[in-house]
Amino acid sequence: MVDLSYLETLNAEQREAVFHSGSPLLILAGAGSGKTRVITTKIAYLVDALGIPARSILAVTFTNKAAREMYERALQLSPRTEGVMIKTFHSFGVWLLRLYGERLGLARDFAIYDDEDARALLSSILDGSQRRHLSRYAWAISRAKDYALGPEDDLSSILEDDDFPELYARYEDRLRDTGNVDFGDLILLPLRLLKEHEDVRRKVHAAFRVVMVDEYQDSNVAQFFLLRELYGPETYLCVVGDEDQSIYRFRGAEVRNILDFPDAFEGTHIVRLETNYRSTETILRAASGVIAHNEGRLGKTLRPIRQGGDVIRILSFPSAEEEAAYWARFLREEGWEDVAVLYRAHYQSRLLELALAREGVPYRVVGSLRFYEREEVKDLLAFLRLVLNPRDEVSFLRVINKPPRGIGAKSQKAIISHARGTGSTLVEVLREGVVPGKAGASMVEFARFLDHIGERLSRMDLASWMEDLLKESGLWDYYQGFDDYTARQKLENLQELLALARSYPGGRDGLLAFLEYVALEGSLDRGSGDGVVLITMHNTKGLEFSKVIITGLEEGVFPSWAASSPEDIEEERRLFYVALTRAKDGLFLSWAQTRNIRGRRSFQQASRFLREIPPECLSPSYEEEEEEDFPVGSRIYHDDYGYGMVVERRHNGNLLVVKVRFETGYTCEFLPSYTPLERI
Ligand code: ATP
Ligand code: MG
Repeated sequence: MVDLSYLETLNAEQREAVFHSGSPLLILAGAGSGKTRVITTKIAYLVDALGIPARSILAVTFTNKAAREMYERALQLSPRTEGVMIKTFHSFGVWLLRLYGERLGLARDFAIYDDEDARALLSSILDGSQRRHLSRYAWAISRAKDYALGPEDDLSSILEDDDFPELYARYEDRLRDTGNVDFGDLILLPLRLLKEHEDVRRKVHAAFRVVMVDEYQDSNVAQFFLLRELYGPETYLCVVGDEDQSIYRFRGAEVRNILDFPDAFEGTHIVRLETNYRSTETILRAASGVIAHNEGRLGKTLRPIRQGGDVIRILSFPSAEEEAAYWARFLREEGWEDVAVLYRAHYQSRLLELALAREGVPYRVVGSLRFYEREEVKDLLAFLRLVLNPRDEVSFLRVINKPPRGIGAKSQKAIISHARGTGSTLVEVLREGVVPGKAGASMVEFARFLDHIGERLSRMDLASWMEDLLKESGLWDYYQGFDDYTARQKLENLQELLALARSYPGGRDGLLAFLEYVALEGSLDRGSGDGVVLITMHNTKGLEFSKVIITGLEEGVFPSWAASSPEDIEEERRLFYVALTRAKDGLFLSWAQTRNIRGRRSFQQASRFLREIPPECLSPSYEEEEEEDFPVGSRIYHDDYGYGMVVERRHNGNLLVVKVRFETGYTCEFLPSYTPLERI
């Protein structure tokens, strides 16, 4: 007997979505309505009740982390779901290319270039005047790939620039020469594979009878095309999403994908989920009030199951430092379990981290560290990739003279052009020592090192092998030679990478899997697992917390200064909607009147989004506070103390109490109704 009791908790619409079969299914529903829960339940149901093998179900989510969590959830519902394939579009692409990439001339152990590597490659083919526009061209290439446009397509919608198509074409040629792929290729190449190779397409259709996609509103055009190729005559297709939570337009996400789904897939059945199980009524009303300010929306009903709830607090602070200090104290006093502190941009975590450390509150920064972008980390990774792929130009150039081996820019050029001319790999050219003198001898020696370390890969566990590589390449000593502080940090980061490698098997396959994880994960959580979570709004997608604190709600920070067009502002508003709807029980919002931005002290104004929250959700009403005589931030004059600024206000019974900081540095509380305070 299979236990299907997990179906009992579902509401009627959720159940309809789980039971639905046959035609394609689109679940269009607001935040916290159980979309992700429907997907995991559906996986369990398909396996348990319909006997569909777990392996023939493919579920696509937005991040690798979400994929792992979904797998766990499905497994909890039913142990039979073991083996279901849950991946991101990108990691699915890698999987497919490892299996069939040879059809496109791709070696099985290709590596993945991140944005910085791709820029380095692009830079090597630009001439002096073009190089000034490196960022723009790099951006344009990755956008073109998001839209599945190749160099031969009409690229004018991406970038109006006569040089661009040719540059893009040369970039592609060079990339193919290296044997590696960039991020865009992880979607585009599988797409080409399925389009051009009938037999592969048939095999893939036979392998996956069910394809489901979560967070479909953030898929891009290339991913839509890929999904269309995955959809065979026998495939059951189900996508879920919420157009109000589309927050990756800047990366090429295309809201039209979800809006046009019924046109693209004939006979689509649409299910709407209208009950929100996550948040209190107050939180939901605030979020709905905010998102209602967007014009381009379908509009949805979302009813809270949890009536009432605490009012939302908005706090204002004289400075970002005080904002951070306040929340750190708050967390120490009130507890931090299941609490997250959100902000718009990674850099904002720094002040919070300092304040939390001072208060002794444990924290975990989610995906904040650009860990894999650090110099020493990239150096080690470049070595690893070069061992796997001796044609990898980008990695080669990164490590050939690091630490310095007397192989200068001229020799490097000679090696690369020789390799291109003869079709040899870079390491083969090194072995020949094509330039005379010391540089040539150094090259031979470096080639010997690479050969030697390469041979040992299959005989050792990955972490020990990497440690040998670090030591024997001279990289470890090189970093040890930096000043104490820098050296310690860099060596710690390398150690962290070694620690990560310990969970991988040895040999080429282990190394490949390790590199793949690093390339696709892109960030590393830092800090303690049971602390308060520090996280950007973007990274909170799909998550939920008992209490959510959103900081830095200031014009220029959020909405970001980079958001200028009305469409940009709508996207920022959707991001705010995502942030607000992460909260289950409590929501706290704050902004600071001054903050250091790009090295300068800047005077901040409250985010316009705060004014969009319906006043009845707030305590006290934000509007009311603005109309008061002494709002926080107002300048005042006191006969005895001189000029100052209101830094805090509260009510003691019916009496207003304001805290004023004077220019002399002196701070004092007053009851304005009894004190001769003058607002200026
Ligand atoms: P988001 O748009 O933020 O991704 P979602 O629509 O995917 O949200 P879920 O994360 O699946 O929503 O569900 C939100 C919360 O509500 C979860 O804690 C989930 O377990 C709970 N939930 C969903 N459906 C039910 C239900 N029928 N009964 C009880 N709890 C439910
Ligand atoms: Mg979800």
